[in-house]
Amino acid sequence: MIIDMHCHLDLYSDPYKVAAECKERGIYVLSVTTTPKAWNGTSKLAEDSQRIRTALGLHPQIAHQRAHEVELFDALLPSTKYIGEIGLDGSKEYKEHWNIQLKVFRHILKSIDREGGRYMSIHSRLSANAVLDELEGIAGTPILHWFSGTKKELKRAIDMGCWFSVGPAMLATKKGMSLVSEIPMDHVLTETDGPFAKISRKPLFPWDAELSIKQISDIWKLREEESREVIFNNFKSLLCSS
Ligand code: MN
Repeated sequence: MIIDMHCHLDLYSDPYKVAAECKERGIYVLSVTTTPKAWNGTSKLAEDSQRIRTALGLHPQIAHQRAHEVELFDALLPSTKYIGEIGLDGSKEYKEHWNIQLKVFRHILKSIDREGGRYMSIHSRLSANAVLDELEGIAGTPILHWFSGTKKELKRAIDMGCWFSVGPAMLATKKGMSLVSEIPMDHVLTETDGPFAKISRKPLFPWDAELSIKQISDIWKLREEESREVIFNNFKSLLCSS
């Protein structure tokens, strides 16, 4: 069973082909979006597969260009249980837009809280503590995608009950491996972040979530089929958690 908890299906050059292959292979995909405007079109990719779910998002890296779409976000919110990609980005290129990022993220979280919570796939690059500050007291189930914070931030996120989706690109680094080794086994899920995330300069596809299994198995000291089973059970318990 392959699970890709964070993939930008709509950004592949042939999204329908990728969606059809996911359906054929029976892959579970959380198809995240970067703007509320993309939600309707992206939802169409999931129309004939029960295993592809579309998440409503507003990516922190474009928050400064799309802040006005928070109204559309609110209007679409009742139609989905899944949110993403949302979050904050504290890296050099986006730091100048920090205030608007924060304003957008706060608006979104407030709306989610008002609606009783959602599953949320969250970006926290160089901003984990700030993301966790904002998540305090918000209803819903946060899934930190490609977590790259410090060990201390990781501990805080674990204590807050966050889930973590980890992919081949994260596991390709020593730091990523070391972080994954400290996440409770029952809160780990797989992802790709394709087509943004690449391995050997090639964009990842949803079925490449399977590449994570080998490395996760090394960390857990389990056989690959055992790790696959743990992750599938996590996925099932996640979906029962709200
Ligand atoms: Mn992403």
